[in-house]
Amino acid sequence: MPSFSWRFIINPEFWFSEKYTDSCGITFKVRSVLYTKESDFQRIDIIDTYDYGRVMLLDGLVMYTEKDEFVYHEMITCVPLFAHPNPKDILVVGGGDGGTVRELGRHTYLNSITEVEIDESVVVAAKEYTPFTGCGYDNEKVNLIIGDGIEFVKNKNNAYDIIIIDSTDPFGPAEGLFSGEFYSNVKNALREDGIVVAQAENPYYDPKWMMRSVNNMRKAFHNNVECYLAYIPTYPSGMWNFALGYKGKKASESFDIKRYKNLNLHFRYYNKNIHRACFALPEFMKEIMQTI
Ligand code: SAM
Repeated sequence: MPSFSWRFIINPEFWFSEKYTDSCGITFKVRSVLYTKESDFQRIDIIDTYDYGRVMLLDGLVMYTEKDEFVYHEMITCVPLFAHPNPKDILVVGGGDGGTVRELGRHTYLNSITEVEIDESVVVAAKEYTPFTGCGYDNEKVNLIIGDGIEFVKNKNNAYDIIIIDSTDPFGPAEGLFSGEFYSNVKNALREDGIVVAQAENPYYDPKWMMRSVNNMRKAFHNNVECYLAYIPTYPSGMWNFALGYKGKKASESFDIKRYKNLNLHFRYYNKNIHRACFALPEFMKEIMQTI
């Protein structure tokens, strides 16, 4: 008798699971593994799944999927862009998949889009295997710098209108992107009316990490910080938090309706009602924000 199972050969099923805790997570049935690489910073995998299309994993964690990446990328760009009165120069820290610069590129009134990504291998993999995000680099306005965002913002003064922190979770090279020192450098790098937005985890599985980011941003921006939410099925809990620090007016009360209408872009998640509604927080999250 062969030592393998015939059932497995006739009906091979390969599932990828990301564990959120020791007893809970998300799982995808995998069609094929397209790419695997151990870079200097992290392990990169790109898998093709049945329900969510192509998925990039960094160190085994879902970064984005073909099916729902639009939510994250529209929300991390549109909210600060339409809250700012006149954004011209934008800095993205991280974001090596290209989805954030792809969205920024649609806002034709911008003068410059600079991205500082630490790991060139992520960019190379995204261009090759997930062109739906990697196409962001085709825009001539995008200036990609391979380097550490933490170092890049040091000693920058009055240089950007919006800074977007599109980072991995707060471990390894991204840990410093959640620190007080980093946010204070970000504040100096921003002009008058400047806005910073950071992906800031979720209140279900990572309330402490979420609040580390929010509290450090609060210190740097003298409490001028608001949180907003988006619904992203493939991120832990599906409820994703963004922390936004502002130097000018409250972002939840600012919306450039004229620019929004003139631009006339087709979005799949963001719209003018979402701009206001995403700042409405559930009670349990407000409690976390007051107590941690
Ligand atoms: N949407 C994703 C998420 O929240 O799950 C984040 C996507 S993007 C792939 C995150 C990028 O941040 C990675 O490519 C990683 O290499 C980059 N990164 C991590 N630490 C960094 C640092 N210190 N400076 C610049 N980029 C960094």
